[in-house]
Amino acid sequence: MNDPYVTSITQLKRIATILKLPPEVVERLSVHDKFLEVHFPVTMDNGTVRMFLGYRAQHSNARGPYKGGIRFSPFVNPSEIRALSMWMTWKCSIADIPFGGGKGGVVVDTKQCSSWELERISRAYIRAIHTIVGPDKDVPAPDMYTTPEMMGWMADEYAKIVGKYTPAMITAKPIEKGGIEGRTEATGLGGFYVLQNLAERERLDPKQTTIAVQGIGNVGYYVARYAREAGYRVVAIADSKHVIKNDQGIDIDAAIEFKKVHGSLEGMPGAAIISNEELFTLPVDILVPAATENVITSENAERIKAKYVLEMANGPTTDEADAILEKKGITVIPDVLANSGGVTVSYFEWYQNMHDEHWTKEKTFSELKKKIDTAFDAAYLYKKNNSVSFRMAAYAVGVSKVVKAMG
Ligand code: GLU
Repeated sequence: MNDPYVTSITQLKRIATILKLPPEVVERLSVHDKFLEVHFPVTMDNGTVRMFLGYRAQHSNARGPYKGGIRFSPFVNPSEIRALSMWMTWKCSIADIPFGGGKGGVVVDTKQCSSWELERISRAYIRAIHTIVGPDKDVPAPDMYTTPEMMGWMADEYAKIVGKYTPAMITAKPIEKGGIEGRTEATGLGGFYVLQNLAERERLDPKQTTIAVQGIGNVGYYVARYAREAGYRVVAIADSKHVIKNDQGIDIDAAIEFKKVHGSLEGMPGAAIISNEELFTLPVDILVPAATENVITSENAERIKAKYVLEMANGPTTDEADAILEKKGITVIPDVLANSGGVTVSYFEWYQNMHDEHWTKEKTFSELKKKIDTAFDAAYLYKKNNSVSFRMAAYAVGVSKVVKAMG
């Protein structure tokens, strides 16, 4: 069974052993400060009223307000939201931004909803959780299947409730509603900066380095695009329906354009269709899961041939698979470091809103690079000096700061 919450607790226990944390600290960090379950009615386009189920988990605010995305998916469940919220606590600490960990979600299939319905669901959800969010309480953001537009609706709804537009209560808003330039690229770009650090430390020559990317949504797309621009060869990409492979390298923009015109990646010139199973076992240098949880499992981990796994999704590797990869000598650059670019730029947005500033994209990207370089170095050095996995090294850096902040 691959229960994300169980995985998050197992990881916590493992780092607790390494850091020799007292049992009462582990007990405190194993639970969430708050877990809110809400049910709210929404009028659908056909006039019927449907009840929706949503959650907001607040894991720890020891280092600052809770921070984390809101996910809209039919698979949203308490275990997932709890795990994701705990991972946000570590992620914010590793990225060295003054936030704790939170996460929210609504059980809904966005593909079955009109834009009007999504607007009403977004507004109703924020109404349902508004008492526990706010610029210095809990600052949501997008996650899977939520968008800047939805963040804008939520900010607007919150303004109606509190009687004042409060942009810092949510991040990744549209620019005209107080959003930051470059937030769209941020998670993928942050992953690319991590890749550059890795390449430098491990002496990888981009031209000789091949990459396979699972998931070409916002995150996977930008990692693939920046990597290709830097000379890496992206030999395979996958959306939720097809995997395409071309040993000469895939132009991600051409693939996206092809998909737009033909409705699918199938038939892309020069590229062969392979199975999802093959994607994970390709003899590439770097495998990039950039979609969802639990895709690298005990079922396929043994057959993975990549030398590195760059986790751009949250929780893509199960705990059992993690152990298998470690035994095989495959280095996993963990989600809490690899995809921290998104929340880091969310912090910059929050900071701008709090100080009424407006940064250029160049400034945002160069500040992001500084944060990623520092976080990577800290984890890389810990790993080298303590002979632990990259995940445990990143956790050691992140968890110890949270523990110190708990006092
Ligand atoms: N949902 C993203 C994550 O998992 C971003 C969170 C944020 O920007 O607050 O890191």
